[in-house]
Amino acid sequence: MTHSPNSPEARDVAHHLHGYTDARRHEEVGPLVIDRGEGVHVFDIHGKRYLEAMAGLWSVGVGFSEPRLVAAATKQMSRLPFYHTFGHKAQGPVIDLAERLIGLAPVPMSKVHFTNSGSEANDTVMKLLRYRSNALGEPARKTFIARAKGYHGVTLASASLTGLPNNHRSFDLPIAGIRHTMSPHWWREALPGETEEAFATRCADELEALILAEGPETVAAFWAEPVMGAGGVIVPPATYWPKIQTVLQKYGVLLVADEVICGFGRTGNWFGSTTYGMNPDVIVVSKQLSSSYLPISAILINERVYGPIADESKRIGTFGHGFTASGHPVAAAVALENLAIIEERDLIGNVRRVGAHLRARLDALAGHPMIGEIRGVGLIAAAELVIDKPAKTALDVPGRLGGMVAGIMQDKGVISRAMGEAIAFCPPMIITELQVDEMVAVFAASVDEAKVRLG
Ligand code: PLP
Repeated sequence: MTHSPNSPEARDVAHHLHGYTDARRHEEVGPLVIDRGEGVHVFDIHGKRYLEAMAGLWSVGVGFSEPRLVAAATKQMSRLPFYHTFGHKAQGPVIDLAERLIGLAPVPMSKVHFTNSGSEANDTVMKLLRYRSNALGEPARKTFIARAKGYHGVTLASASLTGLPNNHRSFDLPIAGIRHTMSPHWWREALPGETEEAFATRCADELEALILAEGPETVAAFWAEPVMGAGGVIVPPATYWPKIQTVLQKYGVLLVADEVICGFGRTGNWFGSTTYGMNPDVIVVSKQLSSSYLPISAILINERVYGPIADESKRIGTFGHGFTASGHPVAAAVALENLAIIEERDLIGNVRRVGAHLRARLDALAGHPMIGEIRGVGLIAAAELVIDKPAKTALDVPGRLGGMVAGIMQDKGVISRAMGEAIAFCPPMIITELQVDEMVAVFAASVDEAKVRLG
């Protein structure tokens, strides 16, 4: 596509290297330049309206351009635009937010540590747990187990936890000390005739075998999203979490719940840990914490984790970690207002009601010859596309079918995201049933159009 010289598209191509983008293809096709947002919609610079079926990056829970968040940011920006949290310093919003998060936590938590992105938060947790193992006199306990298809970020350490090949390939990752166990995707991974229950048992058995092979005294933590997001919205079988937690408890392995997507209502409860009966020692949150209006993430740790870290910082004289913008007052003020909106407007109730409607609408498409699996919980879902339904296979080039359907959807005014062949739905939590109908109708029409194109 040729863009006129000096257009925003041409200037973007000239100067901007995008994340998660094929840079050479970008030179040919250019960007979709978004200009403004309103509720569940965004508008491009040419005035075309899109329903944002991904809430940006699974994150704009309260919708776009919420005036209360703008007001909260403006107020805090004028009063104290920045102050840090190093060396015993604090400010009002960070104190209020830490207290609020401890109050909301699904299991008893002791302290909150602030960071700026999900990646930074997971990276920081790895450092916290190394520090803790040293504090406990268990210096061998430094191995972290994550899962295939899990997503925990893109820094050297968090990308290593991530279990997706494109986050490792050519980056020389994973770093040492990271292991991956299988993903809990029954539809894709089950052996012929294997029930969900038997599959969940196999997942737990594989985890146990890995812990034993590594040596239980070397394993610090198991890292997991309650529901996998970027790996394709993978919802675990009902008995997966109880079985996994039995193994973790048996070997004294900590559980880190990465609630960066699930946190703050997405699964129909404040936390995915509640939805799945998880009892984590560490919880990582970001995204819907501020509806992504400003970058902020937080790590909640229980007393079992905090105690040894506090002791070690006393022994050394400082906890030698922290970011300039950790607990940024404007981001914290926006997060507090965002959480207030989620509560006051009962957005979690909306997730349950409209989520059930979304599921019903998607389930109605399950008989389509190109739809292999519908999965989801609350207001996060995916439809996995296939060409050969019994064989569960798509086109020869992985991701081509998903990319094609997501592209057609975008042309028709719905922004979704293809993860391989899975088309994800994770709209703002304010979405209505009528808007869900529109979103799913565009999806269905796009699958049909792809079918025609493929002949
Ligand atoms: N953890 C999960 C579960 C995520 O979905 C993401 C981002 O999508 C991250 C961590 C990384 O967050 P960030 O992109 O803010 O670094």
